[in-house]
Order: sequence, then C-alpha cells, then structure tokens
Amino acid sequence: MENCIFCKIVQGEIPANIVYESEDVLAFDDINPAAPVHVVAVPKTHVATLMDVPEGMMDSLIAAVQEIAKIKGIDTKGFRTVVNCNEDGGQVIFHLHVHILGGRKLSDDMG
Ligand code: AMP
Ligand code: ZN
Repeated sequence: MENCIFCKIVQGEIPANIVYESEDVLAFDDINPAAPVHVVAVPKTHVATLMDVPEGMMDSLIAAVQEIAKIKGIDTKGFRTVVNCNEDGGQVIFHLHVHILGGRKLSDDMG
C-alpha cells in the first residue's frame, strides 16, 4: 500500500467529508478551502501526477467533476478545475487530484 494521505482517505483510514463516490473516484471537501466550494476528486488507484495518468482515467474524473458541480449547485453558475503537476505547478500531494473551485466569482489570476 502507498504511504499516501489520499490513499488513506480512499481506504477510510483518515476521515474526510465525502462529497461523491463512484467505482473509480472519491471526492471530498478540501481541508483548506480556497473558495466557498472547494472539492478534490481523486482516482481510487494511486497515480502520482498528471504525467502518470493511464488512458481512460480522466474520463471517470471528468464524469465526477460534472456530478460534483451538480451536487454543490455550481454547474450553471460555473466553476474552475485545476490539476497541479509537479514542483512548478505547486503540487503538494503526489496522488493525482482535480480541484473543483466555485461558489464565488473567481479571480482571473492563473498564477
Ligand atoms: P496540491 O497543491 O494540488 O497538491 O493540493 C493539495 C490539496 O490537498 C490542498 O488544497 C490541501 O488543502 C488538500 N488537503 C491536504 N490534506 C487534506 C485532507 N486530509 N483532506 C482534504 N484535503 C486535504
Ligand atoms: Zn495515493
């Protein structure tokens, strides 16, 4: 087993506020939200970065994003998805995750 905080959340060893679950994806509220809605969606299988994604994995993550946007009521007003990759991208947790941010007008600053 990977010694990885998101794997531990997937395995129920660390608590999280679960927002959505499918066969392949778990999503939960970010512990340090940057917007009124801030969810992270992770594949249940450990994959370190966007550069390591196998074919098909993003399909289930995008399906999750669509459902999460509806669950959180931001599907029509809009939201932003972010995948940080490696050092310059600001990735801190090396288990692939999609941030879903919304609930207010987001800044135009893309970093
Ligand atoms: P990144 O910089 O893309 O690697 O982002 C990692 C994200 O994971 C940050 O937004 C953290 O606030 C979030 N995070 C870290 N630990 C937890 C946790 N135990 N539960 C929920 N979110 C977490
Ligand atoms: Zn992991």
